Amino acid sequence: MAKKSSIGTPASGNPQGEPGDQLSCEDLLDQGIDLDAVFDEYIFSRGAEGIRRMAAGINRLKTPRDHFSMVENIAALEETKSALTAMQATQAVAYEDSLSAERQSQKIRERNPGWGASKDVALAMRLSPKQGTRFTKDARVLRDDLPHTAEALKQGKLIWAQVQVVITGTRNLQTSNRRLIDRLLWEEGTRCFDQGTQLLAQAIEYWAKIFEPQTEADLEALAKKNRCVGVQQISPHEVLLKGRFPLPMGIALAQVLARETEYAQNRPGEERNAAQIRADSFYELVTGLNVAQQPPLEILLVMDAAVLSEDSNEPVLIPGYGLISAQRAREMIAADRAGGADELGIWVRGLFVENHSGRLVAMESYRRSFGGNLKKLIMVRDQYCRTPFCNAKIRDIDHVVQVRQDGETSAANGDGRCFSCNQTKEAPGWEEHPVKGERHSFQITTPSGHTYISTAPAQFGARPRQQLRRLIGEDPPG
Ligand SMILES: [Zn+2]
Repeated sequence: MAKKSSIGTPASGNPQGEPGDQLSCEDLLDQGIDLDAVFDEYIFSRGAEGIRRMAAGINRLKTPRDHFSMVENIAALEETKSALTAMQATQAVAYEDSLSAERQSQKIRERNPGWGASKDVALAMRLSPKQGTRFTKDARVLRDDLPHTAEALKQGKLIWAQVQVVITGTRNLQTSNRRLIDRLLWEEGTRCFDQGTQLLAQAIEYWAKIFEPQTEADLEALAKKNRCVGVQQISPHEVLLKGRFPLPMGIALAQVLARETEYAQNRPGEERNAAQIRADSFYELVTGLNVAQQPPLEILLVMDAAVLSEDSNEPVLIPGYGLISAQRAREMIAADRAGGADELGIWVRGLFVENHSGRLVAMESYRRSFGGNLKKLIMVRDQYCRTPFCNAKIRDIDHVVQVRQDGETSAANGDGRCFSCNQTKEAPGWEEHPVKGERHSFQITTPSGHTYISTAPAQFGARPRQQLRRLIGEDPPG
């Protein structure tokens, strides 16, 4: 068999280079050198660079000839992923602890000294801030209360999704019981973890019920605590409303809807089915509006100016909702111009986009808070919270450089943020300032000293067109 692996040339070197002074792995093994120890030392002494080198090595893995080895490689890679995740968890908790200790010794933010650390982790892991915080919290539970599960993750005996099932299933238990379940689950080896996650969750629930049986009163209190209603947009034309209520509230809701349905169905000429009547009744009771009435809305349409003159059929964006056709946008604008808000209850505002760059026109303001058109402009420009990987909706228009640091109230110094990210940037060591870029850009420096650039998204239309032009060398149709 050909000796392929070699040590003695830089790993990034030319694979076709002179083989003269290279020593193969087999040569070194013949000389009694413990290559595993050399590899370990290499990784550990090089830190992040060593880890990246390892990843580069994995990317050079050859596909083996036989099927068994192919699938065996997949299994080994999965085990490696688990080990990597375990190490990420360890490092995330270590960073949060170290940052906290440092700030405490400097008497900074003593009430919440770890502030911002998990958001720093989120950026490094390309997760949203919420997911990063969840990861760091879970990592801490894993280290402190689930040592057997943590060890198994390191050894690649389970995957992160299974770890999350253990954490979720034991979340509300006392620490001592959580630790006990961790031990019990692993008492018989990997049995609990060799089945689906449903069965794993069931096994955990079984133990949880034995150690901390819930009473009827507990379950009622839980149902009350968990009440919620969510409105989620599922297409540009449709919204899904989901809710959870304690039983008495749920029964009351069902009774009201049943009564309204019965009443409507007894009316002569009623054409709606029961489900439609329930939806209409629900809407009318919540908004106080008649279904036939248009709610008072202002709709922003982000469009290429050529759409209006029918020179372009580029789709039009309703920010936060999705795309509509150019034709539909023209109809809406025409209806608005004909009757305006008085008749339809809808104001239509067009915001025009420079097609080649996807840039919206900027405006300046001398106000201390973002309002009016400036706020609208930034909301449309940014679309979602500007923290990288955070998909949350914009709650606040934030000053990139804070007002107390003489940051001005302008489109250049403004950015859309969700509630949580707007708070995070106040963490010690967290700094942001605008930088030059293709579109509106600012740089984020996290407490660990890492930097990220947040660039406003290209407005719809601009990017695909540029890409298409590059790919096919001509203007796309439409
Ligand atoms: Zn955010």
